[in-house]
Amino acid sequence: MSTPKRYTITAALPYTNGPIHIGHLAGVYVPADIYARYLRLTGNDVAFICGSDEHGVPITIKAKKEGVSPQDIVDKYHAIIKKSFEDFGISLDNYSRTSAKIHHDTASEFFTTLYKKGEFIEEVTEQLYDEEANQFLADRFVVGTCPKCGNEESYGDQCENCGTSHNATDLINPKSAITGNVPTLKQTKHWFLPLDKHEDFLKEWILKGHKKDWKPNVYGQVKSWIDDGLRPRAVTRDLDWGIPVPLPDAEGKVLYVWFDAPIGYISATKEWAEREGKDWEPYWKDKDTKLVHFIGKDNIVFHCIIFPAMLKAEGSYILPDNVPANEFLNLEGNKLSTSKNWAVWLPEYLEDFPNQQDVLRYALTANAPESKDNDFTWKDFQARNNNELVAIFGNFINRVVVLTNKYYNGIVPEPSEFFEIDEETLATVKAYPSVISSSIERYRFREASQELMNLARLGNKYLADEEPWKLIKVDEERTKTIMYVALQIASALATLSEPFLPFTSNKLKGILGLCYNEEQSDVVISSNKEITTTQKNESRNDALTWKDISSKEILLPAGHQIGKAELLFSKIEDETVQAQVDKLLATKKANEAANKTIEPQKETITFDDFTKLDIRVGTILEAEKMPKTKKLLVLKVDTGIDIRTIVSGIAESFTPKEVVGKKVTVLVNLAPRALRGVESQGMILMTETPEGKLVFVNPDDTSVTNGLHIS
Ligand SMILES: [Zn+2]
Repeated sequence: MSTPKRYTITAALPYTNGPIHIGHLAGVYVPADIYARYLRLTGNDVAFICGSDEHGVPITIKAKKEGVSPQDIVDKYHAIIKKSFEDFGISLDNYSRTSAKIHHDTASEFFTTLYKKGEFIEEVTEQLYDEEANQFLADRFVVGTCPKCGNEESYGDQCENCGTSHNATDLINPKSAITGNVPTLKQTKHWFLPLDKHEDFLKEWILKGHKKDWKPNVYGQVKSWIDDGLRPRAVTRDLDWGIPVPLPDAEGKVLYVWFDAPIGYISATKEWAEREGKDWEPYWKDKDTKLVHFIGKDNIVFHCIIFPAMLKAEGSYILPDNVPANEFLNLEGNKLSTSKNWAVWLPEYLEDFPNQQDVLRYALTANAPESKDNDFTWKDFQARNNNELVAIFGNFINRVVVLTNKYYNGIVPEPSEFFEIDEETLATVKAYPSVISSSIERYRFREASQELMNLARLGNKYLADEEPWKLIKVDEERTKTIMYVALQIASALATLSEPFLPFTSNKLKGILGLCYNEEQSDVVISSNKEITTTQKNESRNDALTWKDISSKEILLPAGHQIGKAELLFSKIEDETVQAQVDKLLATKKANEAANKTIEPQKETITFDDFTKLDIRVGTILEAEKMPKTKKLLVLKVDTGIDIRTIVSGIAESFTPKEVVGKKVTVLVNLAPRALRGVESQGMILMTETPEGKLVFVNPDDTSVTNGLHIS
């Protein structure tokens, strides 16, 4: 495509059974937002589209668990997710939902068109059925062993371990997720999309056509799918939650969630166009439109094989120009997991770091999992903030604004003669838009964010080298030139940072007085939460566009009044990030405790067996560490019968001091045994918590005296 007339940018529809976390933000929504904001700033016609994916089995399972309706679940999380996107400045043109009527209509119509064109195979097949629950077991209603990788907890539609997508009947040893029963097979009719029929087209279009411009991780996954051979995929399900199959003989059947969800991009575009009084069709049907899907790597097969096959079969739609899927983001070395609560949830982040959305956006972009899985650590987050945002970007802007106010009452000074360093610096600034553009257009957002930081570095170095704070005392004219140049760099930063740091960019534009329009400065001054469509559209009237930074001789003219300094970023202390790490460690411990298996009951014994054990109350009189061991304490214990020596492996849980005077339970008739040369005459009864801490089995009533039997 030479120059696209317009862009349709889609971001993966979040599944509406929970809030979203940093992995989603890093993998899909921040890169998509940077791309969309950049395109708008460069004057392009953009539809940036997303919505809640509200059908499918996991939602019905969650609803069942919580005793509410699936609609209750999706209403709850749709609102939470929508708010998170607004809070983090994801500048969607429309955030719709697949339970909306417009989507039901669009998806039904799409199915009907393919049906009428004879694009489906209609087949009665045997599907897994749970006799007790009286229902078919589609997708996540069934768990079993993955035929490809052997993962024993693969779902019916997809294995989360190896990413393979399969049919439920492919699972080895399938079990119902509802009752745990082994399912039976029962006949039912379904409609299949014959993917094998589209193999040649997919080979031609992707394997030949996109070898060079698609990311290697995406291309590689698609190639391995096609090389394995494609098979027909059922696009309907026996379920009661979803879009009813629009055919007379399809009662109790709905469209497969992965058939209807991508059509959600189309219905969300329609909804937006209706609201804006536009025609939606060019955004999906004009060959001069560039369609880009932002997704995570677990969705590659659906966006690169199944959805394109659907679009191709329909016939009137364009195909994606690129699908820049990201790899996964891990958190402190472990896989992000909703069920294990191993995540940083966006609503929680905002509570702990109010008004610091840009810090998270920046840290996630600078460390984005673009070409391989990557790890988010709180240490790195702190370092990105303190060493880059605060020390470079924030420091530069603060110096420029403070000095301009101090020396010139906030009025941009008239420069005198430019030295070579000034000319060079200004020329370098002019080169930045194309440098950053080149990275963004190749979907290299990490690289782009580092180039932006390099521009701030340039400004910081320029001031540090020229030292206007020293020069002001000896050469006022030269100082004016330096401050003028620095103010031009600050203006460039205000504009070029918008895709990456929208809140900061807004604030900086306000400080520099780059929004001339009264109404706009209101928006700029208002809190960060107010990044709404109003702000987004009005900012198009900003004084400076992306191209202006290269082409305009003067970005901030002499005589222009700027505002007072405000801190753009603030230092994050060690205690703050440590608190976050501690929170995760607590989660980890709770997970381990929950996973610790309860040991099965031992073999039955008789009462006589039990009475052989002579268990008494005792008191520890003395305790000392056994030399050269980690675990052992040598105890003197008053058993009521005598005072004896017992060696006990409790030194890692207690110091000698802590146990002296402790009332304990003692097995007194255990045969003596020598431990490290000390004879131990009995055993103190202990138990162990899931965290590995030993606890005394403790007769803790004071009226219980030494020597009493425990029976
Ligand atoms: Zn697998």
